[in-house]
Amino acid sequence: MSSTYNQLLDATIQHLEDLKSRGVRHVAVAPETLRALAQPPAGKSQRNKAAAPSPTVPSAISAPVAGQTTMLALPGEAPALEARPSALDKVAAFAALRERALACVKCPHLASSRKNVVFGVGSIDAQLMFVGEAPGADEDERAEPFVGKAGQLLTKIIQATGLQRADVYIGNILKCRPDTPGQSAGNRKPTADEMTTCIPYLHEQIDLIGPKVIVALGATAVEGLLGKTIGITKLRGTWKTYRGIPLMPTYHPAYLLRNQAMSEKRKVWEDMLAVMEKLGMAISEKQRNYFLKG
Ligand code: URA
Repeated sequence: MSSTYNQLLDATIQHLEDLKSRGVRHVAVAPETLRALAQPPAGKSQRNKAAAPSPTVPSAISAPVAGQTTMLALPGEAPALEARPSALDKVAAFAALRERALACVKCPHLASSRKNVVFGVGSIDAQLMFVGEAPGADEDERAEPFVGKAGQLLTKIIQATGLQRADVYIGNILKCRPDTPGQSAGNRKPTADEMTTCIPYLHEQIDLIGPKVIVALGATAVEGLLGKTIGITKLRGTWKTYRGIPLMPTYHPAYLLRNQAMSEKRKVWEDMLAVMEKLGMAISEKQRNYFLKG
């Protein structure tokens, strides 16, 4: 049995264990993938032969699988088969990226102050991806983005669209909590240097996931992805593009916690309605009217 096959199998098992530890109990698997896993390839370096698959290489490992099921298929948005890497290659590449990020010490001050690297959470086949600023204390503790108060609000926003957290992917510009030396609590904005150092991990995550839409939560997320520093008040609600992917800037949920006005909630909700429309999701009359007075 080839070592490449074993590496892919290990990466797949690790990914499934990660999902299981987060409460996911079912994953969609194409019959072709199951058949391929049951018949490991003979010989070596199968992945290197992906461009010209030999008849002995199972299609799930060497080439896109026809009819493959994805974790989240939104109406009218079936991913282009020819553009997708094979499912197992993607799982392996994502697991390898995660391993690199978890071992990262490029910002020594953050590596020494963090409890955990907060890599990201959700479906690696997500069509919708949320990007925030950086982990806070709760996220650092639990190794998962957006689990504190702002995160609970983000979860409610996601659920209001009809999706669940597990359907989307959630990541941050920074994978480590910005340190606050001398303070026992509080957060600080990532520095420009920290963002430049960490952003390649997020770029790779986005490239592998290939979301149809990105939602940038707050000014720092927009700055990290687009390099723009103009105010989020001006930017929000206007479509931008990140490497060809439509990107919607909106307020960070922490802002909504500080400013409870219905008008501000409505603004974020209007941004989400635009996102739902872009994804071809059904929108009910009730959803259209959330946070409207009267
Ligand atoms: N705020 C963020 O920007 N990201 C998190 O993960 C949590 C809070």
